[in-house]
Amino acid sequence: PARGTRLLAVRNAVKRFGGLVAVNDVSFEVAAGEIVGLIGPNGAGKSTMFNLLTGTAPMTSGSVEFLGENVSGLQQRVIANRGMARTFQHVKLRPHMTLLDNVALGAHGRTHAGLLAAGLRLDRREEAQILAEAWHQLERIGLADRANELAGSLPLGTQRILEIARALAADPVLLVLDEPAAGLRRKEKQELGELLRKLRAEGVTILIVEHDMDFVMKLVDRLVVMNFGSKLTEGAPAAVRANPDVQAAYLGGAVAA
Ligand code: ADP
Ligand code: MG
Repeated sequence: PARGTRLLAVRNAVKRFGGLVAVNDVSFEVAAGEIVGLIGPNGAGKSTMFNLLTGTAPMTSGSVEFLGENVSGLQQRVIANRGMARTFQHVKLRPHMTLLDNVALGAHGRTHAGLLAAGLRLDRREEAQILAEAWHQLERIGLADRANELAGSLPLGTQRILEIARALAADPVLLVLDEPAAGLRRKEKQELGELLRKLRAEGVTILIVEHDMDFVMKLVDRLVVMNFGSKLTEGAPAAVRANPDVQAAYLGGAVAA
């Protein structure tokens, strides 16, 4: 999709868990080519919002439009096949598998669905194709020289970057990242930031939940702020940082600092 076209539109999303309203009437959009940050204090509903828009969990009400089509109620696998890839707040790699095989699993999901649609089974030629694609993604993120090491042996920062490679292996239009910088050291965060900027330059659109304000403010084009399940405000990083409601939500410090 051309830069600036609407890729994603979340409209009046609501999610209830019994009496708790985790997401309360939230609407926002993401345009092709931008990096949008979703921020807010712990428990604000960010991960739940991600689960709704990626199809990981069903919405109580509201709708999600992706690439011009209503994807509300579709399964995550189906939405992923249309070009939305996600990572989770907690690393979900297979620690006893190699880097290459972990990324290949990401490529497999999409290819396999395509093959099923064509009425075919996966044969050796397709396996080879998937491994080649996985290798390409490892090169893209600078980890090809470690392709045969076990994922569990990597430092956390590298594991998070590997997770992004796995998501990229499905060739997504939109990459949805839940706290990819959590637990990373300063240098690892810098590397992650560089990778995400490089991906944006290559035309990947990114929606990211992030807790580290300095990291996210430097990275994103636009921010959506949630608090107690609702959307507090949205806008450019500088405007959001200066917003008194946002500062109050963070107990007057974290954002302004
Ligand atoms: P954030 O990612 O912004 O920290 P979450 O989306 O994880 O916030 O959580 C928002 C609220 O919803 C919290 O109060 C949390 O306890 C609650 N919540 C999240 N998932 C569930 C669930 N599966 N069942 C019940 N409550 C949940
Ligand atoms: Mg969360």
